[in-house]
Amino acid sequence: MEKNNFNSSRRDALKKLFKGTGFLGMGGTLWTGLSSGLAKGELVLRPPAALDEPNFIKACIKCGACVEACPYDSLKLATVNTEGALGAPHFEPREVPCYMCPTVPCVPACPSGALDITKLQAEGDQMDINKSRMGLAVVHKETCIAFWGIQCDACYRACPLIDEAITLQYEKNERTGKHAYLKPVINSDICTGCGICEHACVTELPAIKVLPIDVSTGKVGNHYVKGWDTKDEQRINNSQHNATESDDGSLDYLNDWESLIDD
Ligand code: SF4
Ligand code: SF4
Ligand code: SF4
Repeated sequence: MEKNNFNSSRRDALKKLFKGTGFLGMGGTLWTGLSSGLAKGELVLRPPAALDEPNFIKACIKCGACVEACPYDSLKLATVNTEGALGAPHFEPREVPCYMCPTVPCVPACPSGALDITKLQAEGDQMDINKSRMGLAVVHKETCIAFWGIQCDACYRACPLIDEAITLQYEKNERTGKHAYLKPVINSDICTGCGICEHACVTELPAIKVLPIDVSTGKVGNHYVKGWDTKDEQRINNSQHNATESDDGSLDYLNDWESLIDD
């Protein structure tokens, strides 16, 4: 990107950032904050092809070039009122999701590598936006009206990867005996985290939410084993073997009481 274009992108993006915030008089102080990053931002959704969060925060120079490149105004720079490192780009799907542009203009616009174009690389010079993993959608069965038996497929129809990232699961409604449930189910291998489903959801607060992948999936912990999975069993055997080796070391030392007495 040419320097003048880059500077004008940054100017335009900062204009977007400051629009309506009343911070224009705080330039110096705020810019210091922008450069340092003040909050962890565990729930923040980053643009397509972002590095993992700690490396993204280190690499992003908060220039706003990606924000400026986005034709849908999906991306915003974080202000003091939003979560995440101040000045870093993010999106809030309920307001404006990522519309998964086939040419992904936000990614090549990034001058620092915080958005890593190689993550989306397809054949030749092409990028494949379907490879992006901005987050992962989760459906809340307590508030999703399809789980109540009411017909709703707004999220399913809105998904750009319909029948891949979201499918509808048919179940007989035993309560009425007449109707069927059609429940939305997310396929975590395919969902890009674009948030178009969250944006489309008909409930007052969305019953389908996109969360950063680690937050969305949770973590099992090392002590649970899939008994049917030989690789997982091997993992436990290895860790037991390592533990025994180190226990043996401790026991040898503790059992060597005679040498302690000799002293
Ligand atoms: S893929 Fe398109 S809509 Fe999504 S953040 Fe990038 S530019 Fe915006
Ligand atoms: S976030 Fe929602 S709309 Fe986007 S791919 Fe995943 S399921 Fe589909
Ligand atoms: S749009 Fe919302 S309420 Fe309707 S099926 Fe999807 S998650 Fe459930």
